[in-house]
Amino acid sequence: MTDATTKTGNAFMYTIGCQMNVLDTELALATLEGDGLNVVEAANEADVVLVNTCSVREKAEEKAYSWLGRMKVLKRNNPELIIGVLGCMAQKEGKLIFRRAPYVDIVAGTAHFTKIDDYVRQVRATGNRILAVGRDEEVETEKRLKARETRHSAYVAVMRGCDHHCTYCVVPNTRGTESSRALEEIVEECRILVGEGTQEITLLGQNIDSYGKRLRPRRRTLSELLYAVADVPGLRRLRFITSHPSDLKPELFQAFKDLPNLMPYLHFPAQSGSDEVLKRMRRGYTFGRYMDLVAAAREAVPDMGLAGDTIVGFSGETDEDFEKTIELHERTRYQNAYIFMYSERDYTPARDLNLPDDVPHDVKKHRINRLMKLQRQWANEENQKKVGRVLEVFGEGPSRKDPDKQEGRSPQNQVVIVESGRDLKGQFYKAEITAGTDAALYGRLV
Ligand code: SF4
Repeated sequence: MTDATTKTGNAFMYTIGCQMNVLDTELALATLEGDGLNVVEAANEADVVLVNTCSVREKAEEKAYSWLGRMKVLKRNNPELIIGVLGCMAQKEGKLIFRRAPYVDIVAGTAHFTKIDDYVRQVRATGNRILAVGRDEEVETEKRLKARETRHSAYVAVMRGCDHHCTYCVVPNTRGTESSRALEEIVEECRILVGEGTQEITLLGQNIDSYGKRLRPRRRTLSELLYAVADVPGLRRLRFITSHPSDLKPELFQAFKDLPNLMPYLHFPAQSGSDEVLKRMRRGYTFGRYMDLVAAAREAVPDMGLAGDTIVGFSGETDEDFEKTIELHERTRYQNAYIFMYSERDYTPARDLNLPDDVPHDVKKHRINRLMKLQRQWANEENQKKVGRVLEVFGEGPSRKDPDKQEGRSPQNQVVIVESGRDLKGQFYKAEITAGTDAALYGRLV
């Protein structure tokens, strides 16, 4: 039992979606901890339960509603339970969430998650619901500097929102236009994190290559930011995601050559190999331009790890279009590829432009199965080539699949699994690769 004045109780948050959501959850929980709540690992132990939602695919929204259904049962047994919905689905659906799930107390959009402490207090004091989905406010980040748990590996948001209007994407609608944080503020945050023990930092932005374009008094670039953060004493590994092929400048590859702690990894979604489909998606590049960038990346850093995203069955995709996508995967040889089947979403330009979701479901299914099978085969072949190499691994602790083994990440961000009786979380070690599958490398400690 809690009341409005004691500011106590337990909070639980369930996260769906991308790394930005993982970070936002961390910031929201830090805010609640700063207000006297304890963070717990199970919803049934909590007085405040929150879900951080994603709108990119329908499945993610269904997942959020199904979780809310389970919270309704908890609330039946504990009427004082506060239920909140945060993130992209909250931003997009707004008060529709109250209509579909009337037992929800708080709906807070993408710019409001760090005010969750205020919202919880208000609900406790008044019993009234809160709807906060305005876009006029900047996301507060300074609370992060005061209250957060130390991590060996941390995310730092450098920009939010996106100025592109890819026709399948809801992100510009849910997260607004691009806004970048000041370079000095980011460097300061990284300095604090490293001072507290963080050794690996991943800089996050929906479209990170256009970092800094509206900053005043002077525009900044991603390159400048990488040089400045890499210079933080004690930082062992630096990464950044996600790159956009029409904004990524080949000059950026120089940073990989110059900065030993900038890891050779690019998450660089192509989405399709067909120029016609790319045009309908409004991606702003062609198959040829994408492959030129891949070649430039590999010329600068021969063992650059590439990860991509692909949508199968977008509006009007023909068999010939799909063959180009297969060719793109075959030539790119992604180490990881996130492959999805297109489904039309509300609030996307595709809806307004009447781009129909016209590829039959069984055709999409056949194509996605074929592409996934080939992608697995090619990733496996590439990983076999790594057998015998010695890689530096940053430990993440016991393997999720086999807790008797230790899991970590290579410089290319690949999962490396080794036998070890010790917990290697937060440690750097060398592993000789002895086997590889499509999803992971296996090795022995050197
Ligand atoms: S670049 Fe395109 S896909 Fe990526 S967030 Fe922006 S609109 Fe969405």
